[in-house]
Formats: sequence, structure tokens, C-alpha cells
Amino acid sequence: MGFRKLRKRDQLSDIEDEDHQDRLESMAALAQFLRQARRAVVFTGAGCSTESGIPDFRSPGGFWTKYMPIDFGEFVSSPEARRESWRRRFATEGMYAAAKPNAGHIAVAELVRRGLVSDVITQNIDNLHQLSGVPAEQVIELHGNTRYCKCLRCGARSALEPIREYFEAHGDPPGCTICGGLMKTGTVSFGEGMPQDEMKRADRATRACDLFIVMGSSLLVQPAASFPVVAKKSRAKLVIINRDQTPLDLMADLLIQSEIGPLMSGAVALL
Ligand code: ZN
Repeated sequence: MGFRKLRKRDQLSDIEDEDHQDRLESMAALAQFLRQARRAVVFTGAGCSTESGIPDFRSPGGFWTKYMPIDFGEFVSSPEARRESWRRRFATEGMYAAAKPNAGHIAVAELVRRGLVSDVITQNIDNLHQLSGVPAEQVIELHGNTRYCKCLRCGARSALEPIREYFEAHGDPPGCTICGGLMKTGTVSFGEGMPQDEMKRADRATRACDLFIVMGSSLLVQPAASFPVVAKKSRAKLVIINRDQTPLDLMADLLIQSEIGPLMSGAVALL
């Protein structure tokens, strides 16, 4: 460290050096937590997907500050709300279809492959954990998945494309081909209630782990934000990696305020 000071550098590169040094120290600390863990759970939020080009809809200036979210009751009761909901979904299709897993997703998939991470609990709806190679049964989607649709009556799943073709031809979404029920994306809307199976699985995984790693979640939304608390009460170590502060920062055994991708791939490379 000392010899760095001997070199004449301008101020900007000193700051860059310090950032670089901070990042290396964070990677090493994270790698140490991973080495000491037997069973880890990763919990991801919007910040994990922004590096794949999917914006955080809740952030200031984000989608939901421009468009009021359509809640579940409205969707069910109003044909106009359903049309608007599908219009919005198809308007974002190009973005979702083009999104690729980033270095953060890939590092998590590697930890799953090595058997260190048992489950990935996610608030994201973009399917990128599955695309990065995490087996679907190890991804717990608290807010559902926007890459397919489901019938609200019989639960049958459908691809998005036939719904879009019908919508473009008729100006209205089709009913379920099996029972005629309302079709909706596989996401959990405001007012819809959390998916009970996923909540139970996430709770079980959280209680069974000895390391709980939050990545890119502001931990502001309940009940998602309760998982790190449950993990701590079950004596797991808590790591929070997020660009901004979270309400649970003081509870963390390791707090890293940074982007996720480079940090995660660096830490995995050190294992
Ligand atoms: Zn149906």
C-alpha cells in the first residue's frame, strides 16, 4: 500500500485507485463469507437486472412514476384496464426479449452450480436467473414472471406471442383456450396477494441457510423485506450488496455499496 503514495498521480487517479482498492477489499470480504458458508441463499431485486438493461420501475423517474400501476381488482373488473395492461406489456416486450443475464446473474448461477447456493429468491419478473442457468426449481419468484401468461380461472399457462397476435388483430386479449377465463401475465399485481407456495418455499430456504446475500434490493417492499430479518433470527450471516442504502444496513454482517456484476464475478473468481 505504502508505495502507492510514492508515485506522483493526479487527484482523479488517486480517487480511482482508492475505488479500485475498495472494490478489491469488498470482493475479498465477500469471498471469505462464501468460503465460510455451507448453504447460502441469494435474494435479488431490481438492482440485479439494471445491468441487463431492465430499469427499476420503482425508482424516481421510473415507469411507475409515469404510469399508475393497474391493480388486480381493476384488471379483473375493467376491460379497459385489461387492454391498457396488455398494451403496456407489449410495449416492454422488446426490452425483455433483448435482455441477457449479466455478470451478476452468471456469478450466482455458478454458485448454484457449485452447490453453495441452495435457492435464489427474486423480486424480479424477468426470467434472467433461469436464462443464466439456475434450474427453475431453485428460483423462487415472489412477484411472478412476465415471460409467460396464465389463466386466472384454471391456471393454464400460455406463451405471450399468441396473446399478442390475437390482441393486435382484435384490440382485445383472448380468453383462455381451455376454460375461457381471463388471461394475465404470470406476474403478481398490486392488490393480488403474494403467491403462497413461493412464500413458503422462500421462508423454508431462508431458515435453512447460514448465509443470506441480498443483491440489488432496496428492501423497502414488504413482505419481501422481512426475509433478511428471518435469516438473521435463524443465525445466518447477512450480506447486503446494493448501490443505495437500505433500512436493514445496520443489521448486515457485510455491507457493500456497489454495482453487482463486476463485484460478484470478482468474488467468485477468488473462491
Ligand atoms: Zn383457463
